[in-house]
Amino acid sequence: MKTKENSEEILSSLANEGFRITRLRKAIIGVFTGNGLPMSADELMEILRSGNTAFNKTTVYREISFLKERGVIQEIQFLHERVKRYELASLEHHHHLVCLRCNRVEDIVLENDLAEQERSILNSKGFKVTNHMLEFHGICRGCHS
Ligand SMILES: [Zn+2]
Ligand SMILES: [Zn+2]
Repeated sequence: MKTKENSEEILSSLANEGFRITRLRKAIIGVFTGNGLPMSADELMEILRSGNTAFNKTTVYREISFLKERGVIQEIQFLHERVKRYELASLEHHHHLVCLRCNRVEDIVLENDLAEQERSILNSKGFKVTNHMLEFHGICRGCHS
């Protein structure tokens, strides 16, 4: 998945706005820019732990809300699960393929996406679409072969 901003760019724009770049903040941004898939807070902490980054849970949750407020990451709530996930907000427009057997999530960029449908909604309903959400459910390659 292409990101419009890499880790260095995100860090320097936060620093320019006067925010401190703590070790944890840097590590978390590194995880989000390195792993394109939507992560839950628990998965994020697992990755931090495996990279030997010291943290406490409260600080990680606070950091997630900070990055969300700054528009660095966005929250995703999949229909099939309760837990919230997060991914970089600057990723190219895409959707998700959710495997109902193993819960694996893959990113998918659709050709032409829904621009044509959005135009026809504007024509037929006079409704100007500003965003849409779309989630594909099914069985992934690993689970059906
Ligand atoms: Zn699967
Ligand atoms: Zn779309």
